Amino acid sequence: MVLAAPESCETLIIGAGMSGLAAGIRLAQYDHDVVVLDRHSLWGGLNSFYKKAGKPFDVGLHALTNFVPKGTRGRPLTRILRQLRIPYEALQLGQQWGSESAFPDVKLAFSNDFELLRSEVATKFPAEIDGFDRLSRYLADYPDLPSGGELVMARPRLREYLRDERLIDLLLLPILYYGSPTPDDIEWSSFVVLWKSLYEEGFAKPRGGVRTILSLLRNRYRELGGRLCMNQGVAAILHRAGRAVGVRLDDGREIRCERILSSAGFVETMALCGSEWEERFPAQTHAGRMTFVECISVLDRPVTDLGHDQTITFFNTSERLAYRPPAAPYDTASGVICCPDHYEDQDEGCGPALRLTLRAHPEAWFEMTPEQYAAQKEAAWRDGHAAILPFAPDIRPHTTFVDTFTPRTIAHFTGHTFGVVYGSPQKHPEGLTPLSQLFLCGTDQGFLGIVGAMLSGIAMANRHALGAASPA
Ligand SMILES: Cc1cc2nc3c(=O)[nH]c(=O)nc-3n(C[C@H](O)[C@H](O)[C@H](O)COP(=O)(O)OP(=O)(O)OC[C@H]3O[C@@H](n4cnc5c(N)ncnc54)[C@H](O)[C@@H]3O)c2cc1C
Repeated sequence: MVLAAPESCETLIIGAGMSGLAAGIRLAQYDHDVVVLDRHSLWGGLNSFYKKAGKPFDVGLHALTNFVPKGTRGRPLTRILRQLRIPYEALQLGQQWGSESAFPDVKLAFSNDFELLRSEVATKFPAEIDGFDRLSRYLADYPDLPSGGELVMARPRLREYLRDERLIDLLLLPILYYGSPTPDDIEWSSFVVLWKSLYEEGFAKPRGGVRTILSLLRNRYRELGGRLCMNQGVAAILHRAGRAVGVRLDDGREIRCERILSSAGFVETMALCGSEWEERFPAQTHAGRMTFVECISVLDRPVTDLGHDQTITFFNTSERLAYRPPAAPYDTASGVICCPDHYEDQDEGCGPALRLTLRAHPEAWFEMTPEQYAAQKEAAWRDGHAAILPFAPDIRPHTTFVDTFTPRTIAHFTGHTFGVVYGSPQKHPEGLTPLSQLFLCGTDQGFLGIVGAMLSGIAMANRHALGAASPA
């Protein structure tokens, strides 16, 4: 049921992605008068779903990170479920079979058992194992919260523990691909969060894919009386004397509110506040530039029949790690190969499939004619699948259907400048903006990925709307 937006509310949330829905649930639990608005007809934002040629696809789901078994206390996944009052079983999680970080001459396997990664390092980099152990002990005790202020990068910190740059590259490759807005490195506290999410905890997938998570969130929010208004974009944030007081919708109607939580991104949110703020935080200097092309190939047989049983392969074809916006529309020097049904007790709704993610130019895709756009998508699929042959089987003769999305698709469905996935390199861990009563949640607050976005929504709702009313 699509709801019309009301004339006023207590808290207005921009965006029905993972962070906005989680924030909405948290507030509705306390009988808060909350409205979630989204410009699109489908919820989920960067992690939504669609149908093409009669087949159901998830937009981006490779993996739910932060897997922990039922009953584990105090970890991000179980904290989220507890705060949203969603039973663990409802996610129907299947664990990954196993993943790898792969360079041409050396690979590190990892799984949901940290010991596998440790033993790989001990075997392949014996001189580094003491440093690796010191690093993992240090990280296990490090707080898993994003921090603000001056950017401290991960590489120089890692060099305090590890001497072999190739090992540093191997460890960074999955982490950068799953959360870095910064070329070739990542801010230290985000590194710590992702180390725990990927290596200490690991990957799982809900049966039914992203729809399962989104249905749980949407149903929970509605059961609690929260209002979800789709197809209702925010054209402007209204403010008076430095304080946000409401929004104007695309159709001209206005909604007054006491506070706004925006998951649109920092630069995008400030642009909604008017040209003065847009000029103070221009996209060219303040937005991130890391974005991707993803080709989803539906196959005539399971990938295991072609001899490949990895869940996710993070690959790099050159000797040193390549993670930066490419000069061309796409770059095949590194990327991610994901087999979405290589999880325990899971299958992919569209049939056997392989997803290939490549880095993309943040502007080139927006400037193409329809013919150039179609040709570049085809070329990305062709060149990408040739480049991954050292790491994955040749799926080209077995491909029955391909769908490719680009930065242009991401920007169209989420409003993120340049179609960036991990937002701006400058995070705002307190969720504050220059305007009072206007707060951020989601990617630019600092938590990344599906679990991170939900954590962010909960944390920002607790801090800025519920205050002391919310139990920890
Ligand atoms: C291809 C791809 C693959 C990914 N794979 C994974 C994965 O496997 N695992 C994982 O954990 N994470 C993955 N991610 C990342 C994950 O999807 C995001 O980190 C997370 O979904 C971000 O949620 P969010 O709520 O912060 O923002 P978003 O999902 O960006 O939500 C923001 C919402 O705000 C809405 N909006 C913006 N502006 C306005 C406006 N003016 N008016 C109204 N509405 C507006 C948008 O329409 C959107 O719905 C992937 C992302 C992509 C793109």
